[in-house]
Amino acid sequence: MTQVLSPTPEALVLASQLLHDGQLVAFPTETVYGLGANALDAKAVLNIFAAKGRPADNPLIVHVYDRAQLTPLCEVSPLAEKLMDAFWPGPLTLILPRKPAIPDEVAASLPTVAVRMPSHPVAAALLRACKLPIAAPSANRSGKPSPTTAHHVLVDMDGRIPLILDGGSCDVGVESTVLDVTSGAPCILRPGGITKDMLEG
Ligand code: AMP
Ligand code: MG
Repeated sequence: MTQVLSPTPEALVLASQLLHDGQLVAFPTETVYGLGANALDAKAVLNIFAAKGRPADNPLIVHVYDRAQLTPLCEVSPLAEKLMDAFWPGPLTLILPRKPAIPDEVAASLPTVAVRMPSHPVAAALLRACKLPIAAPSANRSGKPSPTTAHHVLVDMDGRIPLILDGGSCDVGVESTVLDVTSGAPCILRPGGITKDMLEG
């Protein structure tokens, strides 16, 4: 059974326990609903691929609430710092060289990892409550549209995950911009909430 709960302090404690226990929790971000697992736990991350029917070669975005959490996860260049200053928290995902704490399952065995700091208060509260980096793709079955309400998530995930935190509708509904900053010139790998003009401004 899948529970749908408002993000009360009690629900956040439950969500945090589930994540520490290797289980999945769906939660709202400012872009779309995410399907989260402890990013440091390879087995937990495999549950995401199973619940979504997502191919294992499609890497996940790791969400954090504090830049200090990145230290064991990836190499942060001065350019990446500048972009974080300008656009975090918000819908900008940065591709950075990964460190060994990130399981291969998160990064589809690439030498890099995608990281972002969401601005949605429920996403931030969940990250703060569990104190884990959370790997989360959109909370839809693979091939279906990305969900912007808890009800959309329930339609796709009922019986597949234990908990959905209902934070209402996501206001962007557009996915995060994915920007590769691992080599010389930054390169947009996926357009999204932060436009090329905003990045160049
Ligand atoms: P989703 O979680 O469904 O929004 O998809 C995340 C997307 O981020 C992936 O489909 C990739 O396009 C991109 N991504 C995640 N990690 C990496 C990476 N290490 N290198 C390049 N692109 C990535
Ligand atoms: Mg998706």
